[in-house]
Order: sequence, then C-alpha cells, then structure tokens
Amino acid sequence: MSAIDTLVANTIRPDVAAMHGYHVADASGFIKLDAMENPYHLPEHLLQELGARLAVATLNRYPVASYATTRQKVRDTLGVPAGYDVMLGNGSDELIAILCMACAQQERRAVVLSPTPSFVMYARSAQYAGMDYVGVPVKADLTLDLPAMLAAIEQHKPALVFLSYPNNPTGNLFAESDIVAIIKALDGFGLAVVDEAYEPFAQQTFMDRLPQFDNLVVMRTVSKLGLAGIRLGYMSAAPKLLAQFDKVRPPYNINVLTQTAAEFALDHVEVLNQQATALRAARADLMAALAKFPGVEVFPSAANFILIRVPNADDANVKLLSHKVLIKNVSKMHPVLTNCLRITVSTPAENATFLDAFAASLAA
Ligand code: PMP
Repeated sequence: MSAIDTLVANTIRPDVAAMHGYHVADASGFIKLDAMENPYHLPEHLLQELGARLAVATLNRYPVASYATTRQKVRDTLGVPAGYDVMLGNGSDELIAILCMACAQQERRAVVLSPTPSFVMYARSAQYAGMDYVGVPVKADLTLDLPAMLAAIEQHKPALVFLSYPNNPTGNLFAESDIVAIIKALDGFGLAVVDEAYEPFAQQTFMDRLPQFDNLVVMRTVSKLGLAGIRLGYMSAAPKLLAQFDKVRPPYNINVLTQTAAEFALDHVEVLNQQATALRAARADLMAALAKFPGVEVFPSAANFILIRVPNADDANVKLLSHKVLIKNVSKMHPVLTNCLRITVSTPAENATFLDAFAASLAA
C-alpha cells in the first residue's frame, strides 16, 4: 500500500471510502434533458437589471447572516402560510443534509425512511450523517405501498420520512390521503418531510397543512422554477423545529450573489410562473407524442419530467447520446424501473429534436 493509500485507510470512514460520488454527466454539446432544469432564461431586460444589481453587491463582507430580506421575499412570493417562517439552504440538497444532521443520534442509530425509488440524496445524506436508511418499494404501478410504509414506520420508528411530492424519478404524485396517514403514523416520534421540489408543475402542496401537523416539514427549491444555478432551497415547519434545524446550518450558507439574485428574481416571480405554465403545456404535448410510439409506456407525470418504459432502455439511451441528446437512464436504479428513461420537459423546439432522435433510437 502506498503512503497515501495508508493515510486514506487510516483517516477516511470505510463506508465513505467504499462509496461512489454523486455522478453528474458532462453535458457540453448536448441537448440537456437529464436534470429537470427550466430551459428558459430570464428575459433580456431583466438579466440586464440583475447584472446591475449584482455589480454593486457587497462582496467584501460576509452575507447578512439571518438573510431576513431573502426569507421575507420567499415567504411573500412562494406561498408560505402566514405565521410560518422558512429556513434557506444551498439548494434543498443542503436542507436534506441539515435535517439528517439534526436528527442523527450517537446513542442509537436513527433511521431515515423513504419510498424507493426516490430522490437519491435521502439515502446518501442519511449515510453521510451515520444514520440507517430504509427504503420501502413502491408498487408496480409506482403508487405508494401504504401498508408496507406503515409497517416499516411501526418497525423502525424513523426520525425522518422523506416523501418526494411529486416523486423523482417516477413523476407521479402519491395519494394525498396516504401522505396524511404517514404523517399521522409518525406523530410523536418522527418528522414527515414532504419534498415539493416539483410543486410549480404539480400545483399541489402540503404547505397549507403546516398548521394541522406539528411533525410536518415542507421543503421546496427554486431550482426547477428557473433558478437552478443560484442554489436556493427553502423549508418550512413549526417554529420550534426550524429553530433546532437552524443550529446545524453552516453560517452564511446563502451567499451574497444568491441572495441578490433570488430577491431580484422573486420580484418578478410572475415571469417564472409563466415559464412553468408553458412547461406544463409542453409536458402534455410531449406525453401525447410519446404515447403514440408503439411499445412505449408513458407514466403519469405531475412534474417537469416524464418517465417512460421502452423495449430496451440501454440501447435507446446510447442512440440518444449519439444524437447528442442527454436524458437519464434510470433503468438500473430499481426493479420497478426496468427499461425506464426519465426525460426533462424542455422548450417545444428541444422537445421536437428529442422526439426525432427518440424515433431514430427506437428504429432497429
Ligand atoms: N428534491 C428532489 C425530489 C429533487 O429531485 C431534487 C433535485 N433533483 C432536489 C430535491 C434537490 O434540489 P436542489 O437543486 O434544490 O438541491
């Protein structure tokens, strides 16, 4: 063993040394339909104005630590119920990590639970924090297996249950009544985190249920709304819970450029909402077009991406790549996703290019 390998073995946690990093494909030169981004920019005149704001941002000082004005803007424009505050994160990825950090325990292994397949950062963040992760498979039709979820909750008494609403990578909304049953089953010992990353495309929310349930945390992001580059997630919960989470938030986690850009963009939230409306229409068109391909199964979507099953996902993916179209091949992620691909909804022009490449990819 070389000296550096010995050093790694003596310092790095064995489970970290054994794991693979979060892989992000290199997208240069590709039509990028793999990461659920909004394809639209802010209009030119707003970009100019934003540039002027960023030019005079205070970069030599740390950001305002409480980020009070950014929080206020998020509360005012993004549908947070009166009397509820938000906590901001460097993307909701950071909020997931913060929740795990706050709930991990040294005395006993705390548990994070979620349906599977779901967003991979739930399991990863649990592991990083030294927690056990329990995944409960969804049913073959991708709906929640409520009896299995309730049994697992009873058995493992998880501190955190993450529910992606709509679910990534399947795109469907779990039944509202199932989620309520889970929140109730966790009462007293566990937090239900309803992750509404795709809320602009689902237009269904648990935010207004916060006053009903002490153990409900609602998490969102501006990433899918058109601001993935600034990295800003937010979550709301009972003030006493938020105060606990805030203790493990890294200081100054929302930088000055993000605060400035977020406040500016949220002053023009109607532009982002119009883009979401256009993407919802494009989603309907793309789903209809995909449904016309023989042998292709299109699953329901309340998000800005569509899950499909094709005869041979690996083959279709390789051919799409050769046409410079990047989608996500999720077929190896979980048995219920066998031969499934996940496609981000984009502009009508990019969707048309994708459909042409897709048609060619299905041809022998
Ligand atoms: N939650 C879900 C369900 C997601 O799919 C994603 C991103 N793919 C995130 C959270 C992370 O979003 P952010 O960009 O805010 O870190």
